[in-house]
Amino acid sequence: MTRILLTDYICVAGGDDCGEVDLDIANERFPYGVGKDAVVLSCQVIVFTCRTCGMAWTDHTAETAHEQAVEEYLRKGAGSNR
Ligand SMILES: [Zn+2]
Repeated sequence: MTRILLTDYICVAGGDDCGEVDLDIANERFPYGVGKDAVVLSCQVIVFTCRTCGMAWTDHTAETAHEQAVEEYLRKGAGSNR
């Protein structure tokens, strides 16, 4: 059910069918919060890379990974403010 259809991820940067796309898992770090409360969270995201033109991008799953990292951070930190 969670199978990723590669045909959904065809690069079109260099034309109609630029080429096949590689999927990679990358560790991404991103800032969360402001001021002295700011932290750097990390999560794993799926990076798509075109074999032909080399363009790399992420999709909505990266946003989900970000949200999960934030949730996890908040869950660990919960209690210190109560
Ligand atoms: Zn391409």
